[in-house]
Amino acid sequence: MISVDEARARVLAAIGAPRVRERPILDALNLALAEPVVAGLDLPPFTNSAMDGFAVRSADLRTASETQPVRLAVIGRLLAGETGALASASNSAVRIMTGAPLPDTCDAVIPFEEIEQSGADEIVARQPVMPGQNVRPRGEDVRAGDRLMLPGEPLTSARIGLLAALGIERVAVHPPPRVAILSTGDELAAGPLSPGRIHDSNGPMLAALVRQAGGEVTGISRVGDDLPALRTWLAGIGEVDLIISSGGISAGDSDYIRDLLLGELRLDFWKVAIKPGKPLALGNHGATPWIALPGNPVAAAVAFWQFARPALRKLGGHRAIDLPEVAVTILEPVENRGGRRAFIRAHVELTEAGYTARPVGKPGSAMLSGLIQANALLIVPESVVSATPGTRLTAQLLDPLGVTPAT
Ligand code: AMP
Ligand code: MG
Repeated sequence: MISVDEARARVLAAIGAPRVRERPILDALNLALAEPVVAGLDLPPFTNSAMDGFAVRSADLRTASETQPVRLAVIGRLLAGETGALASASNSAVRIMTGAPLPDTCDAVIPFEEIEQSGADEIVARQPVMPGQNVRPRGEDVRAGDRLMLPGEPLTSARIGLLAALGIERVAVHPPPRVAILSTGDELAAGPLSPGRIHDSNGPMLAALVRQAGGEVTGISRVGDDLPALRTWLAGIGEVDLIISSGGISAGDSDYIRDLLLGELRLDFWKVAIKPGKPLALGNHGATPWIALPGNPVAAAVAFWQFARPALRKLGGHRAIDLPEVAVTILEPVENRGGRRAFIRAHVELTEAGYTARPVGKPGSAMLSGLIQANALLIVPESVVSATPGTRLTAQLLDPLGVTPAT
């Protein structure tokens, strides 16, 4: 048996370099950047007003007070988008809108709401104004030459906005890894259930997990326990970056994925010290890596999160390849006999004292009903046989947005 950490390291070592493509920024949402982004211009590109109001010279208003108000002649108007560089002489002001370029001779803006008295061509100021007030100086946000984004960072909505502000329309990114998904087993029904048959839950679930991890599913196939049929399927999968299968890799009589990988393809086959999800195989079909997950649905999901998800994230060029983890206080006792690392379906909540975790659902690795209540996997280390309420452990968040404050 090998450890979870070693299995993960071996899977990652088998994953090649991500592909690189140039894409319009809006077609690159959530993809990882393949190149750094360096600002080619200052933001804002010119000094401009932060408010609707009057552009003034602060020196003119140094002595302004309730008893000695200062009158300024309004000599013109600047709207956003206008370029006319209006120069104001002393004791004059320019009516200016947010985003309009500040006249070179002005150094502050008094917002409309702070001017008590104004006429068509005159305003009255009753207090001084600080130089720079309500002014957005050129380059205050970004300086040309700033390194703003690093390879492997995801194109979030904010990054797309910043790229657009910089006038960058296309970026080099790592496209989603293409994944072929295979469910195996003679018991998997093609349509309505007949005796001895079950519906394929792993195929759709793994496809959803692949998409959540940023992958693209090229197909969800079902093949019976039949070596020639498996070979035929393999021959027709087309161009993919990763194969993910479930089932057929334990010690059973008809576990043909195991036989196929052992017999014909380059293979690592391990019993991993993990609960659930012990059998795991890593093989390849030509240059394409193949992660073979166990058949029991919860075991398949847990093994996906530990081994296939990091592989997919790496194939997608992401720097962040692991699920987010938080320290939790457990609310119920947990047990873990057998020296394997246990991943327990749990519900994590945010309380005033930090995160808490409570096991949810029935424990069997074939039972999906509990998994739908879980927003996290509680990790019980190999060395911990039992833990009492109050113990601090680590949980992987499956759905960080689903972690809500306790009610
Ligand atoms: P296996 O590893 O192929 O022996 O499968 C272990 C268990 O998982 C068996 O009870 C299978 O029926 C079940 N199983 C395998 N594949 C699937 C699937 N795609 N959907 C639901 N259950 C499955
Ligand atoms: Mg099977």
